[in-house]
Amino acid sequence: MANLIQQVRDAGVIGAGGAGFPTYKKIEARVDTVIANGAECEPLLFKDKMLMEHYAAEMIDGIQLVMHHTGASKGIVAIKHKNRKAIDAVKAHLPPSISLFEMEDVYPAGDEYEVVYHSTGRRIPSGGIPLHIGVVVQNVETLYHIHRASQGQPVTHSLMTVHGQVKNPLTAWFPVGMSYGEALQVAGGATIDDFVLLDGGPMMGKVVTELNTPVTRVSSGIIVLGRATHLAERKMQSELAFKRIGKSACDQCSLCTEMCPRYLLGYPIQPHLVMRSLLTTGPMSDTLTHWAQACCECNICSLWACPEELDPRNVCVVTKRDLKQQGKWLSAEQLQKLTKDVHPMKSYRGVPTARLMRRLGLHKFTAEAPLYTGKIAPNSVGISLKASVGVPPTPVVRVGDHVREGEMIATASESALSVPAHASIAGQVKSVGQSIVITKA
Ligand code: SF4
Ligand code: SF4
Repeated sequence: MANLIQQVRDAGVIGAGGAGFPTYKKIEARVDTVIANGAECEPLLFKDKMLMEHYAAEMIDGIQLVMHHTGASKGIVAIKHKNRKAIDAVKAHLPPSISLFEMEDVYPAGDEYEVVYHSTGRRIPSGGIPLHIGVVVQNVETLYHIHRASQGQPVTHSLMTVHGQVKNPLTAWFPVGMSYGEALQVAGGATIDDFVLLDGGPMMGKVVTELNTPVTRVSSGIIVLGRATHLAERKMQSELAFKRIGKSACDQCSLCTEMCPRYLLGYPIQPHLVMRSLLTTGPMSDTLTHWAQACCECNICSLWACPEELDPRNVCVVTKRDLKQQGKWLSAEQLQKLTKDVHPMKSYRGVPTARLMRRLGLHKFTAEAPLYTGKIAPNSVGISLKASVGVPPTPVVRVGDHVREGEMIATASESALSVPAHASIAGQVKSVGQSIVITKA
């Protein structure tokens, strides 16, 4: 079983539900509980739901492999209670050591801190990780990839939803390196001319305007929205603008803090104090900015809570950036001293998805995005070698080489946190740089 670590590393498995942390490192531990996170909460994303409906057996095998390797006696599948079809599919494969945990249809149910707290009653320490409380959390797609890795299959495709202003919303396995523009065509193309893409969903996703942006192993969904929609405009506001407006219009009502899911869990985050820091300088400002550090960037404060439509989330994001650059980042121990009990109103302040969709102006998109099983065969792919966490892999192919689908094209650094990359289509290598371009032979 020690072998699982090597298999998962060799297959290039990284967390499919977040920052792309190399999975082999995350499962190199002894824990008592493994949680499969299928509580997908970004509006209009269906990829985890589709994965559980169509690949439940493989996903459960992935949990069992991780449980066996980590010594965990308990497995939990966290899933929203509204996803009855996925629940039935998972139930059909559950062994006695793995249970289902049904979650409310609220945002952000899928946040790792929420999933761990609700399903185990334990809180991840502020500034810590689930391992610190004996838990490993893996997204359900990652567990599917762990199952495949154990069969010698590398990660070549990413399960991604294409939704919003497209002809046929769908979820499909897209080859890594395929452009978002081509992915849109698989969904019948955009139904409007002037649009942007919300990469990762409407709440936490970022605005992408370049259609040649490639699919990566962490791509979860792209939402097509009119460039002039209120949501797209709000998400495209510049730092200068959201700070200037925040400075002049924040009345310190503190609703952003009162609705903040991390604040409600007792963590040291208070966005209204971070907003106040915009008006201060020196030691006073330093004291206020530290209340940004535990922010998970969920966007509840900006897109749901603030009556003035200010942007405390992005003020927290840039404040965290500045704290790091200025060497003022608090240690985990310092943050833990500031942690309090769970707020007594916590269970009343989840944001229902349907109401959130209305607030975001997305309620007209009522269709699900079913799994598309047709062949997706792009003429070329540009596989990015950038690593959001760890060291990028080193190319092992040269221009002109012919590669097979699944062949390793860049090798992991042996001495650092690193995973290899694999060809997602068969073809000829056209260029090698920060990404490797392969065209169909
Ligand atoms: S909710 Fe808006 S106005 Fe109220 S404190 Fe927060 S940022 Fe300021
Ligand atoms: S984005 Fe806002 S609501 Fe979400 S954790 Fe950060 S401060 Fe709290």
